[in-house]
Amino acid sequence: MKKLITILVPAYNEEEVLPLLMKRLDSLTGQLPNYSWELLFINDGSKDKTDEMLRSYAESDSRISYVNFSRNFGKEAALIAGFDYAKGDAVVNIDADLQDPPELIPEMIRYWEEGYDDVYAKRRSRAGETWFKKFSSRTYYRILQSSTLVPLQVDTGDFRLLSKRAVEAMKQFRESERYTKGMFSWIGFKKKELLYDRDPRAAGMAKQNYRKLINLAIDGITSLTTAPLRISTYVGAFTSFVAFVYIVYLLVRPLFGVPTVPGYASTLAVILFLGGIQLLSLGIIGEYVGRIFNETKRRPLYFVETYHEGAHHTKK
Ligand code: UDP
Ligand code: MG
Repeated sequence: MKKLITILVPAYNEEEVLPLLMKRLDSLTGQLPNYSWELLFINDGSKDKTDEMLRSYAESDSRISYVNFSRNFGKEAALIAGFDYAKGDAVVNIDADLQDPPELIPEMIRYWEEGYDDVYAKRRSRAGETWFKKFSSRTYYRILQSSTLVPLQVDTGDFRLLSKRAVEAMKQFRESERYTKGMFSWIGFKKKELLYDRDPRAAGMAKQNYRKLINLAIDGITSLTTAPLRISTYVGAFTSFVAFVYIVYLLVRPLFGVPTVPGYASTLAVILFLGGIQLLSLGIIGEYVGRIFNETKRRPLYFVETYHEGAHHTKK
């Protein structure tokens, strides 16, 4: 029996790249006849022709499976659904937009055969991204890493191969505030890094807008670490201490005959400063309380409208 490899593709309004993607995946799988393939698409509530296209591809290609979500649940939900539905002995995640070259997959498979559980692609360059996006993502990872003990993989996306047991591990993360990238780090197992150049999107527009990315960034921090809560404690303690010393100084000053000008400016400054710190701390605590609220609801992570299961043999 050949081993089955699942290629997992989350797709949201990707009608423009799907033909290109199919062609690239087709030639790739053609190069590796010693494996069976499952091409598993998670259609994340696309509003364009993505689902019709998947249906018609699946008619002529039995390797294709697809899951249609009942609405757009976001990429993180699409990934966990992919892990839930994947049948493969290994699962390769890849974005639909061909920013990650499928040609790297044979090498990933080679390392997997050597016994690695998580073969991830690390970006050497990021063509087609603005300097601001590069800068903000670099700074973000630096902050995130310094706040947690789990070693994170910088400049890696979700383009990676996971072994069966790594997928089983990923499936156990049922939290609703998801930061999949952090989970890949969290599960551990034998990891192997591959370097590659990230291409610009092959077609269509980026589907993750800045709002989604910022939300994801906050989820990243609050799902991996409670360090910000501690920071607010430290900052609060420090400013209170400074304020206390200042008050003592104000009380003692008249004893030494220093003329005291009744000043409200300094008082106001201190109050405003402390008020700011308090609001910040409340905000941080609020973020976590919100997370607790969402997690306690234990909502399902996604709803499936239709599932088409391919035959997982070689191409018909
Ligand atoms: N995606 C998704 N649901 C969404 C947004 C994006 O499934 O709500 C998919 C999208 O189709 C693509 C991948 O996630 O396959 C990455 O999206 P995109 O290229 O827009 O993001 P970026 O490259 O900026 O991470
Ligand atoms: Mg992209």
